[in-house]
Amino acid sequence: MSKKQLKFNTKTIHGGQQPDKAYGAVMPPIYQTSTFAQSTPGGHRGFEYSRSANPTRTALENSLASIENGAYGLAFASGLAAIDAVLKLLKPGDEVISTNDLYGGSYRLFKKVFENYGIVFHFVGMTDPSSITSFINDKTKIIWVETPTNPMMNIIDIKSVSELAKKNRVWLAVDNTFATPYLQNPLDLGADIVMHSATKYLGGHSDVVAGAIVVNKKELADQLYFIQNASGAILGPMDSFLVLRGIKTLHVRMQRHCENGAEIAKFLKDHDKVEKVYWPGFSEHPNHNVARNQMRGFGGMISFIPKGGTYKDALKIIENLKVFTLAESLGGVESLAGHPASMTHASIPKEEREKSGIVDAFIRLSVGIEDAEDLKNDLDQALNGLD
Ligand SMILES: *Cc1c(COP(=O)(O)O)cnc(C)c1O
Repeated sequence: MSKKQLKFNTKTIHGGQQPDKAYGAVMPPIYQTSTFAQSTPGGHRGFEYSRSANPTRTALENSLASIENGAYGLAFASGLAAIDAVLKLLKPGDEVISTNDLYGGSYRLFKKVFENYGIVFHFVGMTDPSSITSFINDKTKIIWVETPTNPMMNIIDIKSVSELAKKNRVWLAVDNTFATPYLQNPLDLGADIVMHSATKYLGGHSDVVAGAIVVNKKELADQLYFIQNASGAILGPMDSFLVLRGIKTLHVRMQRHCENGAEIAKFLKDHDKVEKVYWPGFSEHPNHNVARNQMRGFGGMISFIPKGGTYKDALKIIENLKVFTLAESLGGVESLAGHPASMTHASIPKEEREKSGIVDAFIRLSVGIEDAEDLKNDLDQALNGLD
């Protein structure tokens, strides 16, 4: 049976992997080496220098390709290093159409770094894909999509955007960090590039910073591999091992993240101290039907606004939480709470931020895999501490 035909819950454990050739180690060893002995100049066994390739990283890259139903995987030192590599496919004058509601660090990289190199960015609300059309011209090279969006939890129809991208011969890149391949596979929906901050759900244990890209087309893979090797923002062997280990339990963790996420979302919606909850699993979520079609579940990311909430109220709630930890990041086994306006999205100007709905009282939760009862009790006591 070809490993391509395996189901997702098997691919996370076996996809693209085989016992190590030297001693049969079931987990790929951590090849903590910069270089490899050669018998004669050029006489090596597939590995010469660890920037170009390292066996532990290769094992991870094969696993990444397998779980995203792609042909080629590339592992980077961080999610932003992966995005950086994608943008290096471009030349001055080229244009990118990006989701307007996206990870703050991606926005910063686009605006504060790549604009200086002559790349032009358009930030567009994409929940109605037809709004992209007027921004497409012969300079457009990439449409950059993040769905669910961070932190507004909007859903963008990947298939519709990919049809638009194909018609106009533009690459579609999807940041799949929030959904993970457990919930959605952008390449199957027509995307050309799928990107991850593997720091989040793929790693899953808040113990490593890493990034990933998966593609299907060889030409694109060759260009990205060239950039990975030429720029050098590769993932080290130890970190590759950690992400690979994380991926082995991705499906089990995601199942629980989804169950707990649904419980917490409903709990918050019914809470009298809560004004509004953002979660794509609600039937009244504006893009609920798109979410149902392209995702296999709704994940553990939830945002909410406390009733009559001010900046101070939001801070009080997150400081009162005891099981949830106040911290940047998401996707680990432990529940985290964040305040986008002052944390992840502080690099986006206040006006821009509020235009996309990130008001000062906005709170984002990454619901972990603890007991849901404990999480609800924790939120309840923090919310009730408001008056
Ligand atoms: C965290 C994150 C990134 C950046 O990844 P790093 O690993 O922190 O560099 C990009 N996109 C999304 C959606 C993220 O959550």
